[in-house]
Amino acid sequence: MNDELYSIRMSASNGGKHISGAERIVAADKIDVVLRDLTARAMFRAAEPDQIRLAVESLKGHPLRMLTALNVVTVDVPDAQTGRSVAIRVLQKMGVADNAANSAVNYLSKGSATSGGNMRGAVIMDARSGKRLEPDQERGVRASRFDWSEEALERINRCLEAIGLTHFRTREALALATKVAHAPDMVAELCWSDEPDYTAGYVASRSFGYVRFPFLKQMGDPKGGRVFFVSRDRLSLKTLIKFLQFDPVLIVGTGKCRNAMSPEEYFRLRSQDA
Ligand code: AMP
Repeated sequence: MNDELYSIRMSASNGGKHISGAERIVAADKIDVVLRDLTARAMFRAAEPDQIRLAVESLKGHPLRMLTALNVVTVDVPDAQTGRSVAIRVLQKMGVADNAANSAVNYLSKGSATSGGNMRGAVIMDARSGKRLEPDQERGVRASRFDWSEEALERINRCLEAIGLTHFRTREALALATKVAHAPDMVAELCWSDEPDYTAGYVASRSFGYVRFPFLKQMGDPKGGRVFFVSRDRLSLKTLIKFLQFDPVLIVGTGKCRNAMSPEEYFRLRSQDA
């Protein structure tokens, strides 16, 4: 099956500034349709791109990992301040030290690139000490080469719709978070968008799933990013980065999608599960 699959990646920019990107893993006979979709997506933005890069690569010889998507739950918070403090508590339960969780939130709120802006990829952070480990602190590390199978895509669309999550960003972030959560030595992830009008974000881990917050930043705030928290005990940074960037992952199953609940209800349920 893998012999017929291709990774397709799109990246659009204007004046050297990245404006949109997307990626798919598809069978050979879908390449032309997907190239058209991704090009339309690049053009359908407020800022028109002056460059669209499309890459099509065969996955022949790359072992394909099949995964089930993380469970999804929304924790209802009224504002970004509450969202961040509840997200920090959840990260601690996932195994991230208090100082590391706080320092990740600080990095994302100020701009984690060395130049002070947003990164294109993620910060990799020691979950215990909060030390940054990514080799390039301007760009970060990008997770790539993941997608939903056709059946899983239909199922996850229905599942997310049933709990009121219709934005394509949720589905794409859930796919990314599912791949990241299965990376070797991964402890947890924190993310909020750099789109000024998209306030939602999440924390995620394999056992806690994808925990979404409607507010992790204020409307209009252009700062965002991702932090991948890792356990340094046995960590091979090279293996981790290779998995994140290159190892293809197809999500073939869906988890549970739970209705929104208050932070108190969420922590109560988690303590019952534990
Ligand atoms: P987005 O959710 O697309 O708004 O992205 C939010 C932030 O997450 C970006 O500013 C990047 O820092 C980071 N990011 C986006 N895509 C990726 C990716 N594929 N891998 C790692 N980090 C990413």
